[in-house]
Amino acid sequence: MDLFEKCRMFTRADETREKGYYPYFHAIEESEGPVVMIEGRKVIMAGSNNYLGLTAHPKVKEASINAIKKYGTGCSGSRYLTGTLDIHVELEKRLAKFMGKEDCLLFSTGFQTAQGIIPVLVQKGEYIVSDKDNHASIVAGILVAGGMLSYSSDTQSLVRYKHNDMKHLEFVISQLPLEEGKLIVSDGVFSTSGEIVNLPELIRIARKYNARVMIDDAHAVGVIGVGGRGTASHYNLVKECDLTMGTFSKTFASLGGFVVGDHKVIDYLKHSAPALIFSASPTPASVAAALAALDILEQEPERIEKLMNNARMMRKGLKEMGYHVNDYDSAVVSAIIGDTEKTLIMWKALFDEGVFVNAFIRPGVPPGMEMLRTSYMATHEKEHLEKILDAFKKVGKSVGAI
Ligand code: PMP
Repeated sequence: MDLFEKCRMFTRADETREKGYYPYFHAIEESEGPVVMIEGRKVIMAGSNNYLGLTAHPKVKEASINAIKKYGTGCSGSRYLTGTLDIHVELEKRLAKFMGKEDCLLFSTGFQTAQGIIPVLVQKGEYIVSDKDNHASIVAGILVAGGMLSYSSDTQSLVRYKHNDMKHLEFVISQLPLEEGKLIVSDGVFSTSGEIVNLPELIRIARKYNARVMIDDAHAVGVIGVGGRGTASHYNLVKECDLTMGTFSKTFASLGGFVVGDHKVIDYLKHSAPALIFSASPTPASVAAALAALDILEQEPERIEKLMNNARMMRKGLKEMGYHVNDYDSAVVSAIIGDTEKTLIMWKALFDEGVFVNAFIRPGVPPGMEMLRTSYMATHEKEHLEKILDAFKKVGKSVGAI
């Protein structure tokens, strides 16, 4: 059979397009953060991870423009060779200090960070222990590690535990040889539900069973913890949490990823991770934007309070209307609809009402967990949020979801 036969047989997207409620790849023509222009219409954005609203901040934009003027548009090389700028080093120093760790390493995306770190940290005879609902970038890292480990037919090296279920984590890890190295990996704030990992228990188990801990704080930095310092800070466990990774594509209003930890571990990753060594470094504009966003995060922590109050108002409002809303104190507020067709119909109806949300359907979520995921910004004002709530009320009633 022709390799491309599977592409010709792929009809799921076409079927949804024909029904008129295809929710993906809608082009944004202009953006001021909480309000964007799509198909010539102004729409309230309730699905972005621009948590502090900094993509439209004049200081962040200006920093990016100035960096282009000084360094050009790209680095044309990897960090390893010709792609290290003084602002890469500055951002690494600033982030290590901000996150309370010895050292930091930048990657070109958050995805590459997880995908790059895991396979070089976990090698033959060692174990990866991963939450079942971890982000796709962690899964990619595990798959790469699995590919490398499969040469040794050591398939038992990859172990998953039930989502945020610390009893199950302890059970699975207790079955592994105590003396061998292990890495427990988890999202800090889970991206679909907004749930926060039970880090105190996870760290207790890690210490008992000779494991190290890596937390993906993509949705946590700038959102939870002291001054937005993420999950470990939220639980006062910065020292105990071995590695924290993050992204610049959310709070930091840019593109790129990072990991913080002990100097020796970061230095090892720097000289081992193919995703770093064989990929061009983050562009000057991206680095300068992230640096400017970090300045604002440090100087204006009140933005975090505004973000959290916005998310809390929405969680309460949707719950009071009768939606099944996940009850976690983060910036993600997901309304579980529990049916693919209904989720897509509601997505389109909300869009027609001038509100853009994210439709999460299978296979992205398990059956019964189809949801409309909303996420908030510090720059959403009360009138934006009230409009979103009005739209959810009207649409939910019209399809019998509430
Ligand atoms: N981890 C998590 C939990 C994420 O949600 C994302 C982005 N959706 C990433 C990693 C990847 O980050 P980036 O966008 O920088 O590739």
